[in-house]
Amino acid sequence: MNTLDRFEGNVAWSKLDDLQRVAIGSMALEFIAAWQTVDQVVYPRDGSDPLLRAASHAEVILIDRLCEVMAEAIPVAMLQGIDGQPLLPSLLGQVCRHCGCSQRNACFPACHWVEADLCSACAEAEMTDENNCPGHVASALDRKVCAHCGTHIDELRPDDPINLQGSGPAPIEPRED
Ligand SMILES: [Zn+2]
Ligand SMILES: [Zn+2]
Repeated sequence: MNTLDRFEGNVAWSKLDDLQRVAIGSMALEFIAAWQTVDQVVYPRDGSDPLLRAASHAEVILIDRLCEVMAEAIPVAMLQGIDGQPLLPSLLGQVCRHCGCSQRNACFPACHWVEADLCSACAEAEMTDENNCPGHVASALDRKVCAHCGTHIDELRPDDPINLQGSGPAPIEPRED
């Protein structure tokens, strides 16, 4: 998944004319007014409050309307990457290309960034998968086990990559048939 290319709201906004800005801006403001009304209705929220019923319906109408006026004003190309994938909004900050965790929505246990678009939880999972091992190298504890992915020397295949510049004490040797 491409999480590096983003939809930049401020760039899109700067390309709109006054009429488009009024259409989108007024719908956005009315949506927030409806959302705040729903948010401020006191309990019970059992549907008996006429204000809650009306404002909840307004939210549904307004989010649809907001999508419509935005679709009319913003070219599809600005909302999609070159591969056609819909673009995530820029405000998310960094996003993991594998699991979709983001700056304020971390994995559990908590992850950190190891690449601009890869979190430590996914990087670890990638590493321990033998198929993704960047090159087997002997573990300091057991020279017959790869320090990266844990593959045992007896399980190596003839075309497995051996990392001569690896971090272990010695390159792991494939078994001779
Ligand atoms: Zn991840
Ligand atoms: Zn994560």
